[in-house]
Amino acid sequence: MSKFIIIPFFIPHMGCPFSCAFCNQWKITGVQAARPEEVISKVDEVLSTLKGAPERIEVAFFGGSFTGLSTKQQVSWLEQAYALKEQGKITGIRLSTRPDYITVEILDRLISYGVTTIELGVQSLVDEILEKSSRGHTSAITYQATKLIRKYPFELIYQLMLGLPGDNQEKAYYTAKKTIQEKPDGVRIYPAVVLKDTALAEYYSKGLYKPWTLTEAVDMGARWLGLFSYYRITVIRLGLQSTDSLRTEEELLAGPYHPAYGELVESRLMLEQIKEVISRIRVKPQKIRIVFNSRDHSKVIGHKKANVTILKSIFPETDIEFIPDATVNNNDLLVGSETQTISLSRQEFLEKYRIEDEE
Ligand code: SF4
Repeated sequence: MSKFIIIPFFIPHMGCPFSCAFCNQWKITGVQAARPEEVISKVDEVLSTLKGAPERIEVAFFGGSFTGLSTKQQVSWLEQAYALKEQGKITGIRLSTRPDYITVEILDRLISYGVTTIELGVQSLVDEILEKSSRGHTSAITYQATKLIRKYPFELIYQLMLGLPGDNQEKAYYTAKKTIQEKPDGVRIYPAVVLKDTALAEYYSKGLYKPWTLTEAVDMGARWLGLFSYYRITVIRLGLQSTDSLRTEEELLAGPYHPAYGELVESRLMLEQIKEVISRIRVKPQKIRIVFNSRDHSKVIGHKKANVTILKSIFPETDIEFIPDATVNNNDLLVGSETQTISLSRQEFLEKYRIEDEE
């Protein structure tokens, strides 16, 4: 039983007069937009199938820009969710929206209807990228929205993207640094992909946009994961979920989509940790034993044993043994050679991600 259940209601493009270059939500067919009067019955249906008691059960309004809906529409959704919260059937209400649709009036309404989490479609904090992606607002608007939201007891999640037009490793690092300064409670990380019926698809077909490769998206994703983890900003999602905006893989024209993106990123970060601990062995080893928590097996070995292959190519003359051990803490490593045994906890490893120049 998962401790955290989100019951999503998809409100495609409602309330959103924009056409961000990467988004095809307005074109999505075959997805019936939910109706407010269905909220209570759907939640009851989901609750009736649950076994055990999750710690958090939330109703979520995803897919569009919730606070861009008319006040009447917002209230019709919120009333339903609020009734469920009042009855103790759910513990929270979450919604996604744009930074330019945050005002005091809107936030007052959300708090009065029991909303607990705001997911802000930040995407990037580099103005050039926002402009090239036709977001319709600048980073200053995001900072302003963040400041306003922080006056209320909402949980704040930033939705961030990698590889939008104009993005590169340096700019992605800048967005992470600025995000850390803004201190959201959590982030979702999505690599940009080219979907049918988007402006991005047009740029791509004209050779004006080149999506990141999967390797680039995984490398930067791992760097972001390291940075956010060091600064204790929870990464609540890595990569698209089929229920987000990629309805079917047929909509995908190009880009670093991988169904196990999160796993690839986690194992890339673990590879960095393994390389770091091996680099601390003073005498070039003939044999290395990497001991890790049994639950980290797939992260250590890597997707399709990618980490094993990479490590063998870096250390071709070294015999590397992988040993799962339930007594080692999650994400910690113990590495032994003929001459030395070194441990490297995740926390210690994450020091590497501390930002020196906080400007
Ligand atoms: S990304 Fe969000 S704001 Fe942009 S077009 Fe799609 S739904 Fe609207």
